[in-house]
Amino acid sequence: EFLTDMAAKRAELTPEAVAFTDHDTGRSFTFCEVNSRASRLGNLLLDRGLGKGDRAAVLCLNHPDFFVLLFAAQKTGIQLVPLNWRQPVAELAPILEASGARVLFHDGDCAETAGDLVSDTGIRLLPLGATRDAGSALDALLRNASPAAIGCGRIRADAPWYLLFTSGTTGLPKAVIQTAGMAYANMINYSQATGLTVGEKGVNFLPLFHTAGINLPTLPIFLNGGSSTVLRKFDADRILDLIDAGEVTNFFGVPAIYQALALSPRIGKTDFSGVRSLGCGGAPVPRHLLNDFRKRGVTICNGMGMTETGPTVFLMDKAHAAEKIGSVGKPQILTDVRLADGDSGIVEGPGEGEVQFRGPNVTPGYMDNPEATAAAFTVDGWLKSGDVARRDEDGYYYIVDRIKDMYISGGENVYPAEVEKVLVGHPAVLEAVVIGVPDEKWGEVGAAFLIVRPGEELDTDSLSGWCRQQLAPYKIPKSFSVVADLPRTAAGKVRKNVVKDAFLTETT
Ligand code: ATP
Ligand code: MG
Repeated sequence: EFLTDMAAKRAELTPEAVAFTDHDTGRSFTFCEVNSRASRLGNLLLDRGLGKGDRAAVLCLNHPDFFVLLFAAQKTGIQLVPLNWRQPVAELAPILEASGARVLFHDGDCAETAGDLVSDTGIRLLPLGATRDAGSALDALLRNASPAAIGCGRIRADAPWYLLFTSGTTGLPKAVIQTAGMAYANMINYSQATGLTVGEKGVNFLPLFHTAGINLPTLPIFLNGGSSTVLRKFDADRILDLIDAGEVTNFFGVPAIYQALALSPRIGKTDFSGVRSLGCGGAPVPRHLLNDFRKRGVTICNGMGMTETGPTVFLMDKAHAAEKIGSVGKPQILTDVRLADGDSGIVEGPGEGEVQFRGPNVTPGYMDNPEATAAAFTVDGWLKSGDVARRDEDGYYYIVDRIKDMYISGGENVYPAEVEKVLVGHPAVLEAVVIGVPDEKWGEVGAAFLIVRPGEELDTDSLSGWCRQQLAPYKIPKSFSVVADLPRTAAGKVRKNVVKDAFLTETT
């Protein structure tokens, strides 16, 4: 099975259209330019002895050049390994070593870290990424490289294209192999789900070392000949300005992004009417946030996917978002989903169980880790998500919680996500996290950690009362702690294992 060279194809179809605009420098790149830069970079890497199956790492904030590198990797069969710039050298060094990368690309912001990382290794440094004054560092590098097309323009669907790290919510991040076939399948799932068409406009600000930064919606927009404005990183005001100016038609954010947008003083003055699709996923989204935006006439569609699934699987359809609030919608066009119940097999019709996936958007596995790969799949080849979901009578899905986060109190299963939903429904609570902790009497009980809404005061007695009205007694946390912040992944997800370890260390 073969796919086409995406950048070359687009350069053939819409050479003069703008593919990327660097918001910091104002510089734009047409599809033709992106493709010829990617060819030059590919030829340069081939000249330096890299080739199919070799790995190249990259440490940078968001720049259009990152995508040039990504397409150069596709053309040459080199696997790109985007590293997390929020991690310190001590954490990155073993990851870089394990990747076997022979070169490390970096931008100006990450130059120091990159230098420290490669000292005492044979890994070569190569610069990319534009600065406002000095232009693109890649330009100098590419000046003498050949723009000739590479290979036969056909890409194996099962060839690894890039590696993406999971968020590390439940433990150490895992490096997921992302094939070209997965990327194309995701583009179809996402385009179908959001009604993405020709000439769409996006904004790229989510970190590029996680799946959403590359795949949502930047690559789908590129495939459809649309353009993306690239920001170094998230900036609520700049993003709201772009939305207000009609420069964004298809938007995707994780809940923490919507939370930050909602807290910006500019939100009230922002005209969202140009945005045809606003997707949200990656973590549970508080209902009040969806309602908050709805009051502004903005419909956010909740969705669910994993790094291992490319990521798009579920996305709510706009027409039913109000009626099925909280649902992640239905499985999209290329992906089969089933609910598995440990005891009784596969759940038919309405019911609850572990969500499992099968389809061309599912990864073949984790990098150099056959044990983890084997553990992630059932014997009949379905990917185990580790998440519990409920399916209603109309076929809509609701994510209940991670299996790992469930705890048992007095013999009853408690899903922390359900309790957290009630807590963030309280007017004074901005964010809530519940973990199960050991208890002599009940086996385990809930411990809640709360971030208070700016300008509000929280009385934990009133919060217990609030919980009693809405939850069975065994689900009500036995302790409430107000905290200033919580340990998070780069995707903004709370690292519950870290919260739990800290709690256990403090109390024992
Ligand atoms: P790790 O696998 O390293 O523990 P992670 O699972 O958080 O980290 P990702 O692949 O980024 O890494 O996230 C996928 C997970 O995010 C899903 O398995 C699910 O638990 C959660 N998730 C995604 N979307 C939603 C959603 N809409 N509601 C609730 N949870 C979601
Ligand atoms: Mg995971």
